[in-house]
Amino acid sequence: YDQLFGKHAGQNTPFLLLPDGSCLCHDDFLQQAAQIANTLNMLGLTPGDRVAVQVEKSAQSLAVYAACAQAGLIFLPLNTAYTEDELAYFIENSSATLILCDSSRQTGIAPIAKRLGAQLETLDADGSGSLMDKAATCERQFATVDRNGDDLAAFLYTSGTTGRSKGAMLTQDNLLSNAQTLVSEWRFTENDVLLHALPIFHTHGLFVATNVTLIAGGSMIFLPKFNLDQMIDWLPRATTMMGVPTFYTRLLDDPRFDRELSQHMRLFISGSAPLLAETHVQFENRTGHRILERYGMTETNMNTSNPYDGERRAGTVGFPLPGVELKVSDPETGQTLPQGEIGQIEVRGPNVFKGYWQMPQKTAEELREDGYFITGDLGQIDADGYVHIVGRNKDLIISGGYNIYPKEIELVLDEQPGVLESAVIGVPHPDFGETVVAVVVPAPDQTPDIAEIKANIGGSLAGFKHPRKIEILDALPRNTMGKVQKNILRDRYQDIFQI
Ligand code: ATP
Ligand code: MG
Repeated sequence: YDQLFGKHAGQNTPFLLLPDGSCLCHDDFLQQAAQIANTLNMLGLTPGDRVAVQVEKSAQSLAVYAACAQAGLIFLPLNTAYTEDELAYFIENSSATLILCDSSRQTGIAPIAKRLGAQLETLDADGSGSLMDKAATCERQFATVDRNGDDLAAFLYTSGTTGRSKGAMLTQDNLLSNAQTLVSEWRFTENDVLLHALPIFHTHGLFVATNVTLIAGGSMIFLPKFNLDQMIDWLPRATTMMGVPTFYTRLLDDPRFDRELSQHMRLFISGSAPLLAETHVQFENRTGHRILERYGMTETNMNTSNPYDGERRAGTVGFPLPGVELKVSDPETGQTLPQGEIGQIEVRGPNVFKGYWQMPQKTAEELREDGYFITGDLGQIDADGYVHIVGRNKDLIISGGYNIYPKEIELVLDEQPGVLESAVIGVPHPDFGETVVAVVVPAPDQTPDIAEIKANIGGSLAGFKHPRKIEILDALPRNTMGKVQKNILRDRYQDIFQI
């Protein structure tokens, strides 16, 4: 708490610039957090208790994060898109003591809270609700609960892209060490104003963006979600922006987003999903800025980053961050592979989490005794040391004994006339075990010609990599972080070659 929040006590410098034009300074924010910490205390919560938070993004919801840090509670933010059934899983899995939800969901969630013995309070997007009513009557100071760096600060559930979300246990040191590294790598200072349109239930918007800003002592333009008009309006006041690739493609779709509008910006950062090389090039042509791509995950915070100074290489996620050890190993034997070969990415360092909550077996499988975490991603390190992400281990297709990396095929399909983007999956096949199926999304007002695509890719890809079937879809299924949900595609097409 002290190193992130407490050090700003008494400071009247801006912290959150809000969409209504108001501004909350560091000290006001901290006083509000202290009131919430007092409220949580009053509700009987004690250090180590879990506070499950499924609310819209607001200054107050961020203050709950600060309040938990101050009161030694474990902050557990949840995706606002989760249904009540999904929520019940998280509350039960985490045995949260308190659930904080939007008042519109109170009636639906109350029976869940009752069944699981959790308290329920509300917090709405406008900052009202039962939590803040109680907080208003509390003192604006709170004696910070003393905790160790090794104590848990948050449970963060993974995005659930490859299966059921897992609760990653993150310590204070995990978060702090990573944020400190990023501040120096990305040269954040108190003069930085970060354009923040990401959700705060995910590591990207919560830890990367917020913790970096707090450590540097800068401020954030805190927008509830990505909205083009708002982004364009606020951009002139920002110095930096963090986004997922879809933010960048959507900005590029808007002619108002030009060189003049972004000239004053210091840095654009992208992560959470792969940034297409084409987006990279288009962005640079349009704005003169080269996006800095980095790579991380819920369990490890950030692992790699392209350099601030030096070449930001398209199609790569840059170098391992200082203090982070990264290696590529053989998925079968666990042996480290020679440079250039594709294998599973393993990561070790102060950024790596303590394990999955109540999943000892899963933890033991993925977090090795020597401290390396098996990320589930496949990648390769090029001759200059840049890390390339090739895809997920679970998405690897093994067809007739050949390893096929979907990304290689997707890159070829994306280049085809009339194709906006594509996704390649493996589906069961009676002869080959698995075979390749591709889904392509048409570019605006175009209809890709499947026969033509099939003919074109003949020269670029070996026969065993050719999709046995190419389907046209209006859009790829994506989750809130913009990640393609290949599970959904696999379910959909899994029977097409079964007789
Ligand atoms: P789950 O673990 O539940 O299946 P998830 O892995 O999508 O979900 P997150 O922790 O939010 O959950 O996402 C981390 C993953 O996102 C990484 O393992 C990686 O696959 C992907 N990722 C993050 N940044 C990048 C990037 N710059 N390029 C490519 N992939 C990235
Ligand atoms: Mg994952």
